[in-house]
Amino acid sequence: MLLSQRTRFGIGGPAELYVEASSEAAFSAAWRIARSAGAGYSVIGAGTNLIVSDQGVDGIVLRFTADKISSDGTMVRAEAGAELQALVDYSIEHGLRGLETMTGIPGSAGAAIYGNAGAYGHSIDERVERVRILDGDTIRSLTAPECQFRYRESIFKEHKDWIILGVELHLTPASAAELRQTADEILKVRLAKYPAAMKCAGSIFKNLILAELPEHVRRQIPERVIREGKAPSAYLLEQVGAKGMRSGGVRVADYHANLIYNDGGGTARQLRALIDELKSRVRARFGLELEEEVQYLGFPPD
Ligand SMILES: Cc1cc2nc3c(=O)[nH]c(=O)nc-3n(C[C@H](O)[C@H](O)[C@H](O)COP(=O)(O)OP(=O)(O)OC[C@H]3O[C@@H](n4cnc5c(N)ncnc54)[C@H](O)[C@@H]3O)c2cc1C
Repeated sequence: MLLSQRTRFGIGGPAELYVEASSEAAFSAAWRIARSAGAGYSVIGAGTNLIVSDQGVDGIVLRFTADKISSDGTMVRAEAGAELQALVDYSIEHGLRGLETMTGIPGSAGAAIYGNAGAYGHSIDERVERVRILDGDTIRSLTAPECQFRYRESIFKEHKDWIILGVELHLTPASAAELRQTADEILKVRLAKYPAAMKCAGSIFKNLILAELPEHVRRQIPERVIREGKAPSAYLLEQVGAKGMRSGGVRVADYHANLIYNDGGGTARQLRALIDELKSRVRARFGLELEEEVQYLGFPPD
């Protein structure tokens, strides 16, 4: 299986072995076989936040596709393979507030937990009650504090062998019509920024938490660009001439300096070269290290 067929960038070499399982029992069995064979494994979702190496990935690439969504009053449960958008739509249709600002974020519910996805001032951790995982040994549940959520971070980024199987969210009753209106307005803005066919991963870099920046950098960031206590990486990237930069088939959008897309025939090598160039320009100008929001697969550790 060529992983370019499983990533929104349309980039990535072959998986040595690729396994999709649509039930917890089948998935656990596949995972146990991988483990007892001593094969390494990695897990992917819908591939919307992934850069997969051109050489591909050793070992087994697993994808859990179980996608059931159910609710009991204000408590909503989703299996990790459910599309985040299906979960957002479900909550809106049931008159439940809490996920509507996440409308239009592509990918699976499981990966949304992994990366603590969010948009428009909210992130999924605000609503998480428990997360069901396969922790490399057994199936168990973590409470929200145990998931150690931070801005686009969670404990799962430190335990890449853990697999998220499902999530339980607590939402708040609200008017379905009002929630739909909020979601529709957000979706209109998002589709203008990220056309549906664009081969990209959304923002390449995380934004920067203003309070954590050195004073000399803070002074260079105009008040008008600060959102929710964060300095947009796009602003810093714009200052170093990122917009429109190209590396082979991949390029930075002309209208958004933190958005890189595959213009046709792009490779992971070109993507990484462009990312490295952007990081080094920001380092040279601001003395800051940008951190990727996008995740890498099949590359040797740094
Ligand atoms: C156009 C566009 C706009 C975007 N806008 C936003 C935005 O506004 N906000 C935002 O937060 N993100 C945004 N993203 C990024 C992306 O949508 C999210 O990161 C999403 O959660 C990724 O989901 P996925 O299923 O595609 O994960 P993948 O890309 O397949 O994987 C991402 C990571 O999650 C891990 N993972 C996946 N499934 C599991 C699992 N079951 N258990 C453990 N680990 C797992 C993978 O190992 C990988 O490291 C955007 C992306 C695109 C393309």
